[in-house]
Amino acid sequence: MKCTLFKEGRRDYDPVSHIVFRGIYHEIRCGDLKFLTDLSGDIKWIFREGGGSIYEEGTLFRRTLGGRWIYYDSSLYGEAFDLAGRYYLPLSIDMPPISGLDRERQLLDAGLEAWDGLVQKGCLGACYRFRDTKGLMSRSIGLRHTIMGSVPVVPPEALFFDYDLIPVIVKEGCLANCGFCAIKGGADPKERTLAEIRGTILGLRDWIGCDRVNYPLVFLGQNDALSCETGVLEEASNMAYEVLSIEDNYFSTSGLLLFGSPQSILEKGIRDFLRLDALPFTRIYINVGIESLHGPTISALGRPFDVILSQKALKFIDEIHDATQKLEVSTNFLISPTFPQEHTKLLEDYLVGLEDGGKRGKVFLSPLFGQYESIGAIKREVFRLKARSLRPVYLYFLIPYA
Ligand code: SF4
Repeated sequence: MKCTLFKEGRRDYDPVSHIVFRGIYHEIRCGDLKFLTDLSGDIKWIFREGGGSIYEEGTLFRRTLGGRWIYYDSSLYGEAFDLAGRYYLPLSIDMPPISGLDRERQLLDAGLEAWDGLVQKGCLGACYRFRDTKGLMSRSIGLRHTIMGSVPVVPPEALFFDYDLIPVIVKEGCLANCGFCAIKGGADPKERTLAEIRGTILGLRDWIGCDRVNYPLVFLGQNDALSCETGVLEEASNMAYEVLSIEDNYFSTSGLLLFGSPQSILEKGIRDFLRLDALPFTRIYINVGIESLHGPTISALGRPFDVILSQKALKFIDEIHDATQKLEVSTNFLISPTFPQEHTKLLEDYLVGLEDGGKRGKVFLSPLFGQYESIGAIKREVFRLKARSLRPVYLYFLIPYA
């Protein structure tokens, strides 16, 4: 067993075709297992050598700040890069998008058992205060207490930053309450007051402690933060930037992430987005769920936004990109083998209907939960759509965070 404290990893988030670790961390090697913890002594990565894919001889798991586990599936290698923009596909162990992750679950459990053995038997000595799985569980609950809620999903762009984000809830719940949605949280939407948001951010500062240096991103939650007043978004973002010392993070970047809807984006004007563009973060990412441009599909999904509204939102997104520098508004569309052909045709028309090829804004395709039998089937559909698209298209699996 070998314990190395305060290792310095990469300072960038460039896609790399072999395993790299980022930020400042502690590393504990034990046989074929490598554990990486954050500066609070909480496991952040587990890597098991051997029996892995061509990407690296091993299997890699990421634990979010909120205690959720993500398996970095690297079996598709170059195809994964084309699909997701990284050399792996992130698959939630807690909410797997397809069946068949039993082996990975077992490997993760075995890794955690070995970790508990190391911590509880005192094998790590007094070199640092590491938490066993019970301690990690309390810690995750502690985060939910601190933010006074959960983070059922994070925007797709979080993948490009290894999920190194701090969640700040500015608005609870989601007005849309779509019938198909598994992550809406159910509650009536409630915008938090600036005093509540400030209390949460101060709580997060203390809860995360010195590990804050490893977090360049702030996520404004929950599922439609864009529907908050622009002044609230500005205040909350500036407050988070200052109180959480985002400027002093270990990396050469910073970012703000939030979700929007066709309605919330159209309730704002270009001036509102110019105000957001002026926030101190390096980049600002807004992900807007469009889901479908086919009326009957939208109705079947139980979504309250009509197609005209969504089309207006798509047009407005192009205008926002023309007017701003740092803002990147991406869209989300659902795919499913059960959808009518008209849904797919309208999606294809949108993907090829770009007037000027230089616009920002990725399109994320999200498989309807439980409708695909294998990654292979999802992969074929995404590649088929991507091959025709003039817009940057990526696959997006929902990742619960806390
Ligand atoms: S808008 Fe998005 S988060 Fe809200 S209920 Fe609909 S699908 Fe779920």
